[in-house]
Amino acid sequence: MDWAINAPLECQDLNHCFASAHAAHGAPEPASRLPGSHPWQRQVVAVAVLGAVVALAATPTATHGTEAEPGRETFSVEYTVEVRADDPTTAWVRWDLAGIDEIRRIQLTTDGGRFSSFQASGRLEEREGHVIWWPSAPYGHLSYTTPLRHRRGPEAGFDSWADTDWVLTRARHLFPHSRILFSTNVEPNAEARARLIVRVPDGWDVASPLAPDGAHRFLVESPRARFDHPRGWLMLGHFARADITIADTMVSVTTAGEVATSARDIFALLEDGLPELTQLLAQQPVRLLIALGPDPMWRGGLSGSSSFYMHGDRPIRTPDRTSPYLHELFHVINPTRPGPDAAWVTEGLAEFYSVEIQRRIGTLDREGFHRALRSFARHGLWNRDFTRTTEFALRNNSAPLVMWALDREIRDSTDEAHNLDDVVTELAQQGDTVTTARFLGTVRRIAGTSFNAFFRRHVYRGEQPSLASLKESAAPEAESDR
Ligand SMILES: [Zn+2]
Repeated sequence: MDWAINAPLECQDLNHCFASAHAAHGAPEPASRLPGSHPWQRQVVAVAVLGAVVALAATPTATHGTEAEPGRETFSVEYTVEVRADDPTTAWVRWDLAGIDEIRRIQLTTDGGRFSSFQASGRLEEREGHVIWWPSAPYGHLSYTTPLRHRRGPEAGFDSWADTDWVLTRARHLFPHSRILFSTNVEPNAEARARLIVRVPDGWDVASPLAPDGAHRFLVESPRARFDHPRGWLMLGHFARADITIADTMVSVTTAGEVATSARDIFALLEDGLPELTQLLAQQPVRLLIALGPDPMWRGGLSGSSSFYMHGDRPIRTPDRTSPYLHELFHVINPTRPGPDAAWVTEGLAEFYSVEIQRRIGTLDREGFHRALRSFARHGLWNRDFTRTTEFALRNNSAPLVMWALDREIRDSTDEAHNLDDVVTELAQQGDTVTTARFLGTVRRIAGTSFNAFFRRHVYRGEQPSLASLKESAAPEAESDR
């Protein structure tokens, strides 16, 4: 037997509320993205269950690079999500499984009762916080409902919303976290063929980053996951949609309700910005969905698998010259996830490159670039251990400034032969979890010299890097607008 953890988990969804320009972000959620598409992601943990040794296989995050060729498929899963015109705030979800002799049981997390009204073939047992399902073989079905309006926090905006004629949600709101117990004596290499079917009222449209497979139907493929789960953001209903292909990536911007940012402005940024990020992170996403929503949705950005949500009032570029769109895009394309002491690395890189990429593509001049750096310095939280601090001001202001200083230090110590890009690309090529120690080790390898002193000073002691070199372009009186 062999357990597979299957989760509709997406990019880390660390809080990216840009609503108040780096001031009041909510508490970041713990990193939830499981490892990506690499063999080490199969975190093998020996656990004795029912007298047998089982292996925990983590579901990869999927969707980077070319779409994976499905392996030999031994069973099929058809997910149906239905939204009805008379009550668009509820989703009716059904799983139809076929050829599942190798599936012994499935455990689903009910997430505080968000998933309810479970019905299933075979046997279903509701327990504290989860249900356990022993589907009848060879065919099984499961159904449940889930509300489509969900607040990000007690006082926060909604990260899933259903209006009268549109819905903006993501897979994690429709599919509970699940663990599958396979019987390996029936089929040692069980692998699913999975589809997502969306049933919506007449005249409604459907947008998803998943590969289309007919009208309102999608292929669900999670490379190296045996029980594929739908992922990413999903927009249903009446909404505006614009598509463009940028360097082999099909980019869609969907907009529900009245929003300030136009798809044209987003495409203008991505035309040059996306290729920069795909090269930096050594990934080529096949599809990218950017879904914009209005109030009362969360006034920030949230990254998902091959997709991200952005509040429609968030600008392409903030007054302090950072870009919420490039920041989220970095998260979407980045195949690594942060370890417990390295959220500063992920956030620092996403925010630093949201400025640096603009400089490279010529939309930010030197003055604007320096202004962003001074803003990081002024709004940062200093003299704290980066590896132990969760405050937003540290992760999204202090950390990007330290990334800038680190880039300069690597350039200086290698006579411009290397820079921070080389570190980021190498980490991305290896994937997996990035810890502070692994980040430091990669810097050392790229630079060919120890960076212990730099990390001690600027990461563990949290000292602010000097901005003395920016003096010649200072214009501090003009910087009070944030
Ligand atoms: Zn972020």
